[in-house]
Formats: sequence, structure tokens, C-alpha cells
Amino acid sequence: MTLNPAPNSFRTGPDERGRFGIFGGRFVAETLMPLILDLEKAYADAKADPSFKADMESYGTHYIGRPSPLYFAERLTEHLRAQAPAGQGAKIFFKREELNHTGSHKVNNVLGQILLARRMGKPRIIAETGAGQHGVATATLCARFGLKCVVYMGAVDVERQAPNVFRMKMLGAEVIPVQSGTRTLKDAMNEALRDWVTNVSDTFYCIGTVAGPHPYPAMVRDFQSVIGIETKQQMLEMEGRLPDSLIACIGGGSNAMGLFHPFLDDRDVEIYGVEAAGHGVQSGLHAASLTGGRPGVLHGNRTYLLMNEDGQIADAHSISAGLDYPGIGPEHAWLHEMGRVTYLSATDAETLEAFKLCSMLEGIIPALEPAHALSKVMELAPTKPADHLMVLNLSGRGDKDIPQVAQIFGQTL
Ligand SMILES: *Cc1c(COP(=O)(O)O)cnc(C)c1O
Repeated sequence: MTLNPAPNSFRTGPDERGRFGIFGGRFVAETLMPLILDLEKAYADAKADPSFKADMESYGTHYIGRPSPLYFAERLTEHLRAQAPAGQGAKIFFKREELNHTGSHKVNNVLGQILLARRMGKPRIIAETGAGQHGVATATLCARFGLKCVVYMGAVDVERQAPNVFRMKMLGAEVIPVQSGTRTLKDAMNEALRDWVTNVSDTFYCIGTVAGPHPYPAMVRDFQSVIGIETKQQMLEMEGRLPDSLIACIGGGSNAMGLFHPFLDDRDVEIYGVEAAGHGVQSGLHAASLTGGRPGVLHGNRTYLLMNEDGQIADAHSISAGLDYPGIGPEHAWLHEMGRVTYLSATDAETLEAFKLCSMLEGIIPALEPAHALSKVMELAPTKPADHLMVLNLSGRGDKDIPQVAQIFGQTL
């Protein structure tokens, strides 16, 4: 494995071929290539157009509810300080993406892609979804702009995320259960890519995370970077300086990239990504692609993947459908190898503890996804000095997870 030389800046990628070092790129069928090039050009044009930026800001404010607050989690901070040695225990902040319209960070990216689809004159939108949050966000914006919406969702996820399936249908979307493979997110994405190749002229593929062929990883990151840009400004206003550490959960890695990217060249800021360790990385039942996987190619890009000895994609496992993906965005793979970001993992059991604690102490029921990151905040915060400013990306609210968590705790609804 060739390692890249340390770059002067961690924010310059990808190169013109969509590579972050050896990761990323576009490994797609020939028939898809013209579409990808079209998209790349349309996105470059949009980025340079002030009216596109103005639309993003206007709908961001009035429809999504941006900026999301940066909130001092006072009781959680006190609780963890009580367990820390004297003079220790970081000051913890939540970036409250769960307050966005539709309940997670997903909508930031969907707004960007839907505005782009309109510019390109594409009337039909397709999307893949795992937990259903990306599907709901896509169905929502398609309703808002009068576009046809088709969402591919693994049959297993259709079952375990029934409220979100109903939501999408209410919003006028067609939800197609995918019966192939493990019938989860990876298979939904395969199916969406297949749809795209067969409906080239009228269809826009709205990908939900920083994965897929170039330009998706960079484009989705750009749309999500509003999280980090706001955080920087808000922390400067509240504390007069930058945070000391950032922490976010990782499925494909979009909420994390959105928070991290504006801070990558602030070398004093520690950055932590948290993957889903399921029953434990040793158990084999997990979704920790960086911690427990190796480089390969899936869904159009080279990145770290869970795979068996033959290179076949292995099943991912997580309590959280939103993290249940056997890969990770290529920029994360690169940041991992560069050593700029530290990647940790949290088990299902640790996640449930954090889920309970956040609900009881802060009156905020988090989604199971950011509860993974929160469990590592519980470990890290007591090891830091009391003036250490730590920001957790609270990527979504827990309402969608209530039926599943109730079942785990043995309650019937
Ligand atoms: C989808 C989702 C995630 C995981 O996706 P990323 O691309 O890694 O951000 C995390 N949190 C919530 C609330 C989600 O809905």
C-alpha cells in the first residue's frame, strides 16, 4: 500500500480525477460515465453561480431552519466532570443538527442536490436509504419542488424503519423494497445505481452520504460543510476561540465530513470519527470499515470496506440502520491514513448507555447514530482538562428509533 506524502493542506482534495490519495475516483460502468461528467460540470457551474449560493442560503434559513444552534450541554458536562480527576472534564457542546426540518443533517445535502437537479432540468429523483432519514429528506424536497421521487430501501430496513417508510409515502414518494443481497443499505445503493443507468435522460441520483463515484464525495461534503462553518463562527462568538476537539459518528461519513472539513487545517483541533462496532470489532458483527476493514472498490470508489478473504463485501452489523454500511467515504479513508483524524468505534451496548444518559440529562433524545459518538465523548471528556472545548455533532433526533429501543428495553408500545 503506497502512502501519500503529507500534504500542506488537508482541504485541497480531491484531485481532478476525484482521488484523495489512492482513495476515491470513479469506478463506474461506461454507460454511466457521460452522466457523471454531466453532473460534475453542472456542479462546477452551480458552485460558481451566486444565485445558487443565494438559493441554498434562503431555503436553508426558511425551510430547513438554519443555522442550527451550538448548545452547551451543561448537565452532561457536570456529570462527566464528577467522574473525572480534579480539574479535568471537557466542556461539551452539541451542534444541534437534529433540529433541522426532517430531523437530521441529511437535508443539508439533499437541498443542494435537488437545487442542482432543477438546474439540470431532471424531473425524476432517485435515492437510496438505510434508516430512512435520507429517503425522508429527499421525499420532502421533491414534494416541495414538485419532482417525482423513487426511494430504494433494503427490505430488512423497510421492516425495521416502518415510520419513515410511511413518512416517505405521505410525502408522495414511491418506496421500492430491495430483496437482493443482505436487503440493507448496500443493496439499495446497487439498485439505485442500476436504475440510474437505465433512466439516463430524465433521472438525477441523489446520494445520501460522502460515497459513490466522483464528484459525489466532494459535492456532498461541500453541502454538509455548513455544519462546520457555522460551528466555527458560533464557537468564536461563545468562547472567543476555536474548539479543542470535534467528534461525530460515521456511517458513510457525511455529517462527520461536514463538521470536520472547515477545521482540517486548524492543526490544534483534535478530530475524532466514531464507527459502529456492533457486538464488538472482534466479533465480526460490526460496521467499522476503517477499524476492521481493508481497501477495495464499492459503489464507484476505492475506500476501506468490510470484506471476506475473497474480496466479497461482508455484511455490516449495527444497532443503527443509518450506520449499517460496509464502506466509508474515501476522504475519511485518506484522512485516516494521513493520521489527521482519529477513528474510534462504539459498540451497540455503549451506544444504548449514551442514548439513555443524553435523554435523562439533557432532555434530548438523540438518534442511535450520534449516540455512538456520544459514548466516546463519555470516555474522552473526563481525560481532558476543564478548559477543553469539545463539540459533538448531534446529527439527528431519536424519534425514528423509539420503537426499536423500546423493544430492546423489553417495552411494548
Ligand atoms: C444517515 C445518518 C447518519 C450516518 O450517515 P453519515 O453520512 O455518516 O452522516 C448519522 N446520523 C444520522 C442522524 C443519520 O440519519
